[in-house]
Amino acid sequence: AGTALARALSAAVVPVRQQAGIAPPAQHPAVGALLTVLDCVADQLTGDRALALLTGPIGRVDPVSLRQLRRALRRVDNSGREFGALLVETLTGGEQPLPDQLARPVRRVRAVLDAARRSATAGQDPRFVLWQAWHASGLSRRWQAAAGRPGAAGVAANADLDAVTALFDTADQYVARTAAASLAGLIDHVRALSWSGSAPERAGADEVAVLSAHAALGREWDFVVVAGLQEGLWPNTVPRGGVLGTQQLLDIVDGVGDVRGMSATAPLLAEERRLLVAALGRARHRVLVTAVDSDNGDEALLPSTFFEELAALAGGTDPDADESPVHAPAVLSPAALVGRLRSVVCAPDGAVEETDRLCAAAQLARLAAAGVPGADPAHWYASTELSTAEPLWSGDDHVVTVSPSTVQTLTDCPLRWMLERHGGSDGRDLRSALGSLVHALVADSGRSEAQLRGDLEKVWQQLPFDSNWYADNELERYRAMLATFTTWRQESRGELTEVGTELEVAGTIADSPDGPQVQVKGRIDRLERDRDGRLVVVDVKTGKSPATKADAQQHAQLALYQLAIAEGVVPHGDQPGGGRLVYPAKAAKSGATEREQDPMGETAQAQWRQRVTDAAAATAGPHFVARAGSGCATCPVRAMCPAQGTKGACP
Ligand code: SF4
Repeated sequence: AGTALARALSAAVVPVRQQAGIAPPAQHPAVGALLTVLDCVADQLTGDRALALLTGPIGRVDPVSLRQLRRALRRVDNSGREFGALLVETLTGGEQPLPDQLARPVRRVRAVLDAARRSATAGQDPRFVLWQAWHASGLSRRWQAAAGRPGAAGVAANADLDAVTALFDTADQYVARTAAASLAGLIDHVRALSWSGSAPERAGADEVAVLSAHAALGREWDFVVVAGLQEGLWPNTVPRGGVLGTQQLLDIVDGVGDVRGMSATAPLLAEERRLLVAALGRARHRVLVTAVDSDNGDEALLPSTFFEELAALAGGTDPDADESPVHAPAVLSPAALVGRLRSVVCAPDGAVEETDRLCAAAQLARLAAAGVPGADPAHWYASTELSTAEPLWSGDDHVVTVSPSTVQTLTDCPLRWMLERHGGSDGRDLRSALGSLVHALVADSGRSEAQLRGDLEKVWQQLPFDSNWYADNELERYRAMLATFTTWRQESRGELTEVGTELEVAGTIADSPDGPQVQVKGRIDRLERDRDGRLVVVDVKTGKSPATKADAQQHAQLALYQLAIAEGVVPHGDQPGGGRLVYPAKAAKSGATEREQDPMGETAQAQWRQRVTDAAAATAGPHFVARAGSGCATCPVRAMCPAQGTKGACP
């Protein structure tokens, strides 16, 4: 959370110092070496990682020995492979005939990797995998012996031990506070702690120190903000003690007796309360405590009980006290300030006082003179000259390649097509990743429901969900979707026979003398054959809301594939037998909800050929019409659309 906060402040150009005075843990050689071991277990051993492990604190191979090792391995293997590849083989394959002084570091690194891998394979949590790696490294004994000695070696050993202890503390907290803790998650978490922000360093400038409550102890500031006093985060009453279970050990040593029956929560609560009081005490003059309360009772967003206690102390116990939410104040950053000034300068006549407009213009001029981006009107999009008024292409011999979804977008709104096509949308978002995943899964007709569920669960962890609760919720929904789809597939076999899935379609579908030649390129989710031998196009939709029956009749994707069949572009036949939109997210009696498109007759073919030609011609521009409709609600370029009357609209 501290990292996210520091990032947000940096994004608002607020100078930030994170964990001031403390080196980021991942930059410490000992921590870096252990993280590399975890990387090899969570991901794979690469040449770079092998080299880092051998030359780091675990392998301790010096540059001279490294050269000897390189020569020795090349003598054994003269295939000319990269040194990194040879190291990987040495650490994973059979033992190489190496001189003893070179074989020893290799054995040490192998032992550490093997121990960590065994622990991960046994399903132990990330803290145990880390512990096994640390234990097998033998560094604990080595550094403890050195730590007792005077001089630089003793100081370095103490620093190494402190860094590793901090790593175990971090791992302990990560596992205690993360519902689906994983090895990869732990690595990311520790590496994120090394992030140091991008705010420019300014000598003498005031900075916001972002640090944990523990790290703040012993220091003071005029103004302290305790951010995010949320339920489940503070107080955190998850039992401590981690790998070693030190709290329980102490209870046993003290003769407390049956530790399972004893309430471990009360002392934790008291400890968390003391920590909060200590954090509040860091403020010399003012303290601000923040929490978020969800509107719909979402447990993940409830203020902590400590927050309620503080609110009662700060505002008295008056039940009628004003509890209206506080709105976030405007961010004082150059970009936000320029935006606000521009909105005043460009406000419609009568919307702002003319004196305010003049004042805002004067401030913008000052910012522009200081070189603040966006302040100079010469750089505003609406005030710059058009680079060209020429169409994007011309000539009847031009060939336009369209996909069925392109035709749909061009038919619905040409401006949206143009803006999305030129960077207005991010195709790598979660929704499109989930859509692609479902399509890839259901394309394999040989998989049973159980197999599809297994496949889904295998890749689920890799999807970029923002929160675990949402990921769990969605997993349930997608499992149900696969079940619904397999039921539909089974139920529909009486009338449909599968011809193929994910079938590539490419060919000319319109070649009129009055327009460009149009080629279609796309992929049919499922092609089926009906009882009359005609080809039926099936498109699987992962959305929750089915199209209306009337919209399905006009669905461009189904229509274009039907047209492609009629034009002989699809090798399995030239008789279109209609199209179906299948919605596995919405169960129905026959499995999934369906929407149908009638088989395309000759009249409809001529109409669609004309529509496709018109859509292809519209790609030339130079004018792209903004056609408002039902798609505007989910349009990714809505913020710059003139039809929406938004401030950032394109001219
Ligand atoms: S908001 Fe509506 S009209 Fe504007 S570009 Fe998007 S789809 Fe077109």
